[in-house]
Amino acid sequence: MKNITLLFIAVALLLIVGCSKKETIINKPDYVIVLHGGAGNSDPLSFSEEKQNQYKQELGNALAIGEKILSDGGTCLEAVEKTINYLEDCPLFNAGKGAVFNHDGHNELDASIMLGKDLSAGAVTCVMDIKNPISAAIKVMTNSEHVLLSGKGASEFAKLQGLEIVDSTYFYTEDRWKGLQKELVSEKHGTVGCVVLDKYGNLAAGTSTGGRTNKRFNRIGDSPIIGAGNYANNNTCAISGTGHGEFFIRYTVAHDISALMEYKNMSLIEASNLVIMDKLTNVKGDGGIIAVDKDGNIAMVFNTNLMFRAYAKSTGEKDIAIFK
Ligand code: ASP
Repeated sequence: MKNITLLFIAVALLLIVGCSKKETIINKPDYVIVLHGGAGNSDPLSFSEEKQNQYKQELGNALAIGEKILSDGGTCLEAVEKTINYLEDCPLFNAGKGAVFNHDGHNELDASIMLGKDLSAGAVTCVMDIKNPISAAIKVMTNSEHVLLSGKGASEFAKLQGLEIVDSTYFYTEDRWKGLQKELVSEKHGTVGCVVLDKYGNLAAGTSTGGRTNKRFNRIGDSPIIGAGNYANNNTCAISGTGHGEFFIRYTVAHDISALMEYKNMSLIEASNLVIMDKLTNVKGDGGIIAVDKDGNIAMVFNTNLMFRAYAKSTGEKDIAIFK
């Protein structure tokens, strides 16, 4: 009798575990896309509704580009590249056209890409004439034996790869120029990033930026550093960061979140909260991340009062937001 009871309990447990597993699989979206347009601290009152709507419109346009690629069966790499290309071409964001100025009055751009399938990665830093730095980062990943190329060498490589090279004046916008003159706090955000889970179960993360206003001495931030401002691993998640890059480098923010999931079995949201709201906040490191895990769960966590952000899932779930 005791044996029969034990057997009954075992079968019941197996059924429960089996059902809940099935539920996770059934609920897993076919694809997910999350993007950001930078994090920072701005007074909501000084940010007119018209301006907020303008940002939301552009975030929505970028989201639609990536979502269409994914619903048509495109890969995470295509979706990340085209979504970020749109944001790089949009003067509102601190990437490509509209990038912030460095101390010498130039634009120096950084970008990186990583694929979760095989941990392949590519990045460029301190480039001054490549129209779309994320595309150059992708070429480094796919067409070179390196991960990170810098400055003139990176431009030479991009030229050989047939990418569009522009005169440095292309990146100029009056807003960013004024930002350098006044060092406005509100001009410090605007980095762009995109993370994707595609229909094939693959993850990708991309980040592109002009860095920090008034930066000097060829300063390099976290955005082109794999593991700091960008990371993807099919075992865990894909992450793109934005904020005070020096902290993201020292705390290897993107990889730390992935490692907490891999080695400590934390959920994406638990790991993201620990790293951004605890570790970074405790040392006054401003910023945030967007992330998607291998099951399609997302995180958009930031310790500033705003992060331009948007996401969409194949299930129809969607949101575009700026403030907390
Ligand atoms: N993380 C970027 C950097 O430090 C800037 C930003 O995201 O606002 O270069």
